[in-house]
Amino acid sequence: MIQLYIPLNFLGVIYREIRQSLADMERMFLLLKQDREVTDAPDATELNVKGADIRFSHVDFSYEPDRQILFDISFTIPAGTVTALVGHSGSGKSTISRLLYRFYDVTGGAISIDGQDLRRVTQASLRKEIGIVPQDTVLFNDTIEYNIAYGRPGATKAEVVAAAQAAYIHDFVESLPNGYGTIVGERGLKLSGGEKQRVAIARMILKNPAILIFDEATSALDTRAEQVIQAQLKEIAVNRTTLMIAHRLSTIADADQILVLDKGRIIESGTHQKLFDAGGAYYRMWMQQLIRQDKPENAAE
Ligand code: ATP
Repeated sequence: MIQLYIPLNFLGVIYREIRQSLADMERMFLLLKQDREVTDAPDATELNVKGADIRFSHVDFSYEPDRQILFDISFTIPAGTVTALVGHSGSGKSTISRLLYRFYDVTGGAISIDGQDLRRVTQASLRKEIGIVPQDTVLFNDTIEYNIAYGRPGATKAEVVAAAQAAYIHDFVESLPNGYGTIVGERGLKLSGGEKQRVAIARMILKNPAILIFDEATSALDTRAEQVIQAQLKEIAVNRTTLMIAHRLSTIADADQILVLDKGRIIESGTHQKLFDAGGAYYRMWMQQLIRQDKPENAAE
């Protein structure tokens, strides 16, 4: 029995390894695929950022020819301010952030940063200026130091530690038996949703971009962890142009501008107070969220 058990157990290990490698490969191909969608123009120039004023002008977009996702999207994010995108699932929020990062090119209209059309600048110079804190940060199966330093390849240990301190994750890292040498990721120590987002924030601090895209986690964070992350984001958003994809309306009440999306169109825009007082779609979303929060089974939503 034992003789049979060991090889079976071994097969289990091999199976998990293969599955992990396939998952890694899939992720890599996904990134490659996304990169293949756009190429630098032959005469592309370096993006020259002054304050990082972002402008979407009459943007249309489709992933596939016969299904349009965004319709005539126009808005400006003045340099150094925060704009939040809200809207039901599938309304196009993430698509807007992907277009800003130029994973895809617009099918109509234009996007510019400080007056420079994204299609006229090199992708490398564009992506250097944009830091993304995604909903679910992918950690490499490597040390926590490597995972933070990924924000700026070549960063020294002292710089990594300073970024971790600024992201309020240093004490947690130091409390681990192997400190910054701890292996994390799917094959290493599993971090909570909040810890992963703080690693992403530390990466971002190291990268020091002019533009910040924050895709709020839909769930997984408890209220305290969420408050900590919101406070950190406010600190790092100072002097940067920020696009926030928000799922909880309470986190964006002090954004400079809120855009309400519905089926790929902007149906309302303004400050929280203005939209709330108007009593339209934004107001109704607030009311729905308040009702849901009252139900204990939805407390984490
Ligand atoms: P959520 O709040 O659920 O994250 P969202 O508002 O961010 O939603 P998007 O992810 O931008 O919505 O998706 C908008 C629409 O585009 C959806 O109908 C979705 O099915 C479609 N879509 C998203 N990504 C792709 C893709 N790679 N290929 C084809 N269609 C896509």
